[in-house]
Amino acid sequence: MTTISKYSMGIGDRFGLEGPAQLRAFQAAKARGITIAPVWNKSNREHTLIGTRPEDVRAEADAAVKSCQWTDPYFVDADHIGLATVDKFLAVSDFFTIDVADAIGKPATDGAMAKYVAEMERFAGALRIPGVAEPVVVSQASLQEIAAKYLFAVAEAGRVYRHIAAQRGEGNFVTEVSFDEANTPQTPAELFFILAAAAREGIPVATVAPKFTGEFLKGIDYVGDIQRFAREFEEDLAVLAFAKKTFGLPETLKLSIHSGSDKFSLYPIMHRAIKKADAGLHLKTAGTTWLEEVIGLAASGGAGLAFVKEIYREALGRYDEMAKPYLTVIAIDRQALPTPDEVDAFSAEEYVETLEHDQACKRFNIHFRQMVHISFRLAAEKRARYTELLKANRDSIETHVTSNILKRHIEPLFLGLI
Ligand SMILES: [Zn+2]
Repeated sequence: MTTISKYSMGIGDRFGLEGPAQLRAFQAAKARGITIAPVWNKSNREHTLIGTRPEDVRAEADAAVKSCQWTDPYFVDADHIGLATVDKFLAVSDFFTIDVADAIGKPATDGAMAKYVAEMERFAGALRIPGVAEPVVVSQASLQEIAAKYLFAVAEAGRVYRHIAAQRGEGNFVTEVSFDEANTPQTPAELFFILAAAAREGIPVATVAPKFTGEFLKGIDYVGDIQRFAREFEEDLAVLAFAKKTFGLPETLKLSIHSGSDKFSLYPIMHRAIKKADAGLHLKTAGTTWLEEVIGLAASGGAGLAFVKEIYREALGRYDEMAKPYLTVIAIDRQALPTPDEVDAFSAEEYVETLEHDQACKRFNIHFRQMVHISFRLAAEKRARYTELLKANRDSIETHVTSNILKRHIEPLFLGLI
């Protein structure tokens, strides 16, 4: 039976060269007493944008594990897949993130609705979930509403799960169900009844990714009401613990946070909450490594710096094309971006300071960072030259990649250091 450990982290690597540098951060954490399972994740969208294949991610993960002599479990995540996209991941992935956000609100059949509502009526009245401040008021009407919104979507997750299980065999992979790309956040009641529906479908949900309030923009910190996030996060932990007992879901069930990278202000909150609840956590923070490659190249000066300046100039020239796949998860103020001529005049240090995610640094520019974050496709277009530069500047890049994962992510989130 493939199960995922209490703590795990989804890491991405657009160009497949940073496996060992990323893994060294997990080894450093292990040496300090905390084992976190690395999960290499790449979505179908990302594969399409840069022309990689799921096999490439598997090869990278296996090679990194071998060269670093990592002996604990690790996974390869088919991130954000559905029935239309899952097939090419089946042979090589052992973690599947079933994304059913697009199916939310689609109608289930009247018969399925009636059956579900009838079964859930045992929770009618004031439902007390330990750890959730207010009792959840459950009525036939509220159950109808939740079913109308989510029942079809969870049934779709069931279809995808069974499709994967038929190919890989039950118990041979980790199943995540994600709703994080939904239009509205799920309430604790919705999450509870979604998990009920998932249990009825026979989905052994190991990780679930709800949508939270606030903005999870690409590559920059959380934008929103931190206290409100803290309450939602703690309530979701409570719902998961209660749903596990109530519906017989896997003991390892935990929250998955699709962070869009670098939600630093949330890490201390999440750390305290998972410690208090003795809960596990999966954090996805994939795009951050591509930015460390750019920073490593910029820091090394010369041809590396020239290349990342060129990328920026081209990205601005093709702004709409770069932004299109990410419109809902970026907030770039184009007036606040430096011009390409200004960037061309940057020293290595200036480029690094403008891009690097150090909010205490005066030169740091969140608009510049988001812009570079979404422009990885341009490096893919110049892949031969980019790969050559990545190889030529290994030391500078790997130092940045390892230290970013360890110091900015693992230490505050899993070790409680700030
Ligand atoms: Zn996501």
